[in-house]
Amino acid sequence: MPAVAGPEIERLIQLLARLPGLGPRSARRAALHLIKKRELLMAPLAGALQTAIEKIVVCASCGNIDTQSPCTACIDPRRDGSVIVVVADVADLWALERAGAINARYHVLGGTLSPLDGIGPGDLTIDALVSRAHDAAVHEVILALNATVDGQTTAHYITDLLRDANVKVTRLAHGVPVGGELDYLDEGTLSAAIRQRTAF
Ligand code: ZN
Repeated sequence: MPAVAGPEIERLIQLLARLPGLGPRSARRAALHLIKKRELLMAPLAGALQTAIEKIVVCASCGNIDTQSPCTACIDPRRDGSVIVVVADVADLWALERAGAINARYHVLGGTLSPLDGIGPGDLTIDALVSRAHDAAVHEVILALNATVDGQTTAHYITDLLRDANVKVTRLAHGVPVGGELDYLDEGTLSAAIRQRTAF
């Protein structure tokens, strides 16, 4: 496609196109929108990005992203320190927090085991999790991992490693989504829901 703008604007479009969910067309639209709203949007965005570059750190304890380490979640005294929720990614941590699902501490693995992609235990923060789980104050480790082959492989691997830690290891329930209709569920979800039925 021939360039319609100078190299600076083309560069902006190319960078925006690397964001998840934005293809080249949306990136062009976003760039144009930013340029039109230079004062209102582009300048504050540039400032926020600069601040983020300077201040954002990965929490040395749990792997969360924050502007301090240990992070806000790790030092919050109102959180239940006896429970560690293990997630693959910071996005999963944010999703659980959005849902207000649990008031515990977290551990971000940095991905899931994936032999096909060459991701082994050494690429994840599994050692740090095992050492945290051996803390006498920790009673439960909740494996909040994806219901995919990689997610469940990782869950089994961690469960084996935690066998001699004095903690209860749990995982998320698999089953009927809230508001879900049985007729529309795939067979895997339906059979998991039957297997994991609970007392009414
Ligand atoms: Zn933390």
